[in-house]
Amino acid sequence: MSAFVLPKPITATIAGAAYPTRATFDVVNPATGEVFATAPDASAADVDAAVRAAHDAFAAWRSDPAARRAALHAAADALDAARDEIAPILTAEQGKPLTESAREVAIAAAYLRYYADMQLERQVIRDDAQALVEIAHRPLGAVAIITPWNFPLIIGTAKIAPALSAGNTVVLKPSPFTPLSSLKLGEVLRGVLPPGVLNVLSGGNEAGAAMTEHPLIRKISFTGSTATGKAIAAAAAADLKRTTLELGGNDAAIVLDDADPATVAAGIFPRAFSNTGQVCVAPKRVYVPESLRAPVVEAFAALARNARVGDGADPATQYGPLNNRPQRDRVASLVRDAVSRGATIAAGGSEIAGNGYFYQPTILTDISDGTPIVDEEQFGPALPIIGYRDVEDALTRANATHFGLGGSVWSGDPERATAVAERMEAGMTWVNTHTATSFDQPFAGIKWSGIGVENGRWALEGFTEMHVIHRAR
Ligand code: NAD
Repeated sequence: MSAFVLPKPITATIAGAAYPTRATFDVVNPATGEVFATAPDASAADVDAAVRAAHDAFAAWRSDPAARRAALHAAADALDAARDEIAPILTAEQGKPLTESAREVAIAAAYLRYYADMQLERQVIRDDAQALVEIAHRPLGAVAIITPWNFPLIIGTAKIAPALSAGNTVVLKPSPFTPLSSLKLGEVLRGVLPPGVLNVLSGGNEAGAAMTEHPLIRKISFTGSTATGKAIAAAAAADLKRTTLELGGNDAAIVLDDADPATVAAGIFPRAFSNTGQVCVAPKRVYVPESLRAPVVEAFAALARNARVGDGADPATQYGPLNNRPQRDRVASLVRDAVSRGATIAAGGSEIAGNGYFYQPTILTDISDGTPIVDEEQFGPALPIIGYRDVEDALTRANATHFGLGGSVWSGDPERATAVAERMEAGMTWVNTHTATSFDQPFAGIKWSGIGVENGRWALEGFTEMHVIHRAR
């Protein structure tokens, strides 16, 4: 299999045209550990140019809903048509299997289509002898969208689509680990969307900070780590910019004592290891009754041993590398630390030799809360399976965290499981599944997992501000 080569450099898009930056940075293929491309390294002046382009495009874009609808449908079609071109770029920069990259492009196009026709109608809340009172939702202006490296296109378009549909204009900055697929999105949509409506640039964390501090940015929609989310909330506070923050998670899956070990493992494993564990809302710790722990651990370990790990460009691959070296090293160090505290490795447990950032799918047990791999977000292919005494004990431990993204309960008795799921402190709880979501299902974390909601009309509302018109009679 020959290494992926980018046919030509991908440029930033500002005001509908290619925008050359003075500096560039290297992009590494995580399956090989080798630089395969460069990306524009936006300076504060480049960020300023992008924000001004978005600001200048706002008045025309907000004023014509029919034109927005048509442009968003055209954007969805253009993205679909570019799927075979974008998918290999996403695999080369991110590591995920090519089929998943193609699926990600298709979902991104579907997000644009889903929001193209959605509108927030004016609402009459009072109509009597004294007054006519109406509520309208108005766009905010130029918004900053900042994304992480696990699902650059899905997360990007989950924000871009409602932002644009509501009448805002956008500056998008993807993670410096995965800049190319988003830059390509910008290229593909040049000429499809009016100039300045969607500006895409890449750069490091300083470029992100320049966006969040820019006086013409009215809202920041961010997905990434809790630490960065807090820094962005602080930057936004100075100007009272609106924020949506989708942050980290440490989802618990609680297995009840009537569950079948093989069924539970078959249900949780692919969701925990999908995208090599780099999913905000993946199950990251599994609580099982002590009586079931041995068969559950063995069922998970068998799946881990059989998982096909490799270069995402290889059609046989199920699980690619970690996206970057620091993340692979972090997972390796969390596992080493757990073992030093007495954890047992039931499968995996080490890096895979070579230059890529591969790590064996790993199942740990004889481990408990108070261990970093249980208490923190590992964001990688290493899953602790923890024994519990009774359901109260499991719930207490599942909830004893600053995170509050998702959680799940697994049982042959869905009613009993639902009663437990309702007591989990998380924005989303599932019964006999996990991570399941859709365009029209709200996606929202509580506590340190986030502020605001994505998907459905909630996301559209999040890109607007309410306007009340009260007419005296
Ligand atoms: P990160 O916070 O390191 O970076 C995310 C983005 O923020 C990048 O584009 C980065 O350049 C930018 N950034 C960094 N510092 C900034 C600053 N001070 N101001 C503005 N922008 C800045 O996150 P990551 O490591 O790329 O992503 C992994 C994290 O994302 C995990 O914690 C994961 O759980 C979380 N995540 C959450 C969701 C969700 O919806 N809740 C979805 C996916 C990932």
